[in-house]
Amino acid sequence: FKVPTPVNEPVKTYVPGSPERIELQNTLRAFKSQQADIPMYIGDQEVRTENKKPLSPPHEHRHVLGYFHEGDAGHVRQAIAAALAARQRWASMPWQSRAAIFLKAADLLAGPYRARLNAATMLGQSKNVYQAEIDSACELIDFLRFNAAFMTEIYAQQPKSSPGVWNRLEHRPLEGFIFALTPFNFTAIAGNLPAAPALMGNVVVWKPAYTQIYSAQLIMQLFKEAGLPDGVINLIYVDGPVAGDVIFKHPDFAGIHFTGSTAVFQQIWKTIGENIQTYKGYPRIVGETGGKDFIVAHPSANAKALAVAISRGAFEYQGQKCSAASRAYIPANLWDDVKQFITEDLQSFKMGSTEDFGNFINAVIDEKSFDKLAKYIDAAKNDPDVEIIAGGTYDKSEGYFIQPTVLKVKDPRYVTMCEELFGPVFTVYVYQPNQFEEILEIVDTTSPYGLTGSIFSQDRYAIDLATQKLLHAAGNFYINDKPTGAVVGQQPFGGSRASGTNDKAGSVFNLIRWTSTRTIKETF
Ligand code: GLU
Repeated sequence: FKVPTPVNEPVKTYVPGSPERIELQNTLRAFKSQQADIPMYIGDQEVRTENKKPLSPPHEHRHVLGYFHEGDAGHVRQAIAAALAARQRWASMPWQSRAAIFLKAADLLAGPYRARLNAATMLGQSKNVYQAEIDSACELIDFLRFNAAFMTEIYAQQPKSSPGVWNRLEHRPLEGFIFALTPFNFTAIAGNLPAAPALMGNVVVWKPAYTQIYSAQLIMQLFKEAGLPDGVINLIYVDGPVAGDVIFKHPDFAGIHFTGSTAVFQQIWKTIGENIQTYKGYPRIVGETGGKDFIVAHPSANAKALAVAISRGAFEYQGQKCSAASRAYIPANLWDDVKQFITEDLQSFKMGSTEDFGNFINAVIDEKSFDKLAKYIDAAKNDPDVEIIAGGTYDKSEGYFIQPTVLKVKDPRYVTMCEELFGPVFTVYVYQPNQFEEILEIVDTTSPYGLTGSIFSQDRYAIDLATQKLLHAAGNFYINDKPTGAVVGQQPFGGSRASGTNDKAGSVFNLIRWTSTRTIKETF
């Protein structure tokens, strides 16, 4: 029997005076007024070290939210040992019990943890209330609930048998531990990357991005409160190369569940290759990496819908989504209208702290990201072939604020049309309407990525042509919609080319990577 397919968690709106708004504001105030002490979680231990590091809101970098205890190579070894010690019992636990733990975690998150995880995401990652709600509440709840159902779909698939022969499949957990290396930009992804392999009976070492530790520790508490046994997921804060050096040389390394940059993933892949003879098996390598996500408009497109897709798709969460729209190809007949709509929309976006719910734009994640984006903006300002349509200013005195910026370029292969910037800088190329087919070729070949993209058109021939020509340019392809905001159970998410292994987060295709299937034939 199966876990029934759930419905997506409804998004709360936080209208003024609503109980959820009051609770969230109180939680934000409480978090702001205390200094959290954040241990690592290894086996049954909360591990504290001498090496305490501060965490600050990106929009107010002088305020300290708390301190996390940084670990070293010894802690990585301890985490692996704790995972391996828990492995046998966890792997032999009935799937109903594993499902129950994660389904309970989803319910706790829908209830008492919702305000806390939203507040942690708003403060620690500078995500506004609406973006936090769809991420750290709804998407993570959905991952937990849908994955339990997907797991049972996998288990239910059995081969044919015949009289005298019973064939069956047994979905074993992998032989070893899984390493979850998680990003700052989605709390839901940070939670799902360790949870999905664990649900399938695996044990996990989880290393979050340092910039997401503030919400990661709450997810760990949530899993523990839901009944996750000690050692099944071990949360460590260790420098990437230090952790990698231990993990990828370990004979029991059985797989990695990764979201992050293309460069890091490629390095990891190489390291795994170099150590391949060390391992018991071929590790599962599942990764979602960068994107240079496009919006291409046909001359028949609806200018208003296109402009809204740009301003939302490019600037929600300051463009810090792998899926964020970052380049557009707009026909000259639509440009004036689109430009007017976008500039009006951007003027209505207020920028500032996430604690003021009226601010739509908040800070980028850290100084490194701020400096990188500022450089691109400066280069654009100094280039006579680039026009600044909107934004173009930045200020890091209080927080890492970059004004939403739209550039218009004369060269469709200008650097910001090709490279991933991961921030609120969007580039437009305006083409002559008879160049549509040529433009599709440029869209396809301008960047090495293949994550998300959109076609805007009212003409079905043009939609079909783009769908066909851009076959591998986007693992998530949107027709007349922005290229972000995939919903678990509705648009399985992931891309190919330099964007990852396309194992579709939030689907059976992802979960199936965390089992090693045994075929059993029994003859009577
Ligand atoms: N799943 C998210 C979306 O569709 C993006 C995930 C990411 O940025 O890594 O917008």
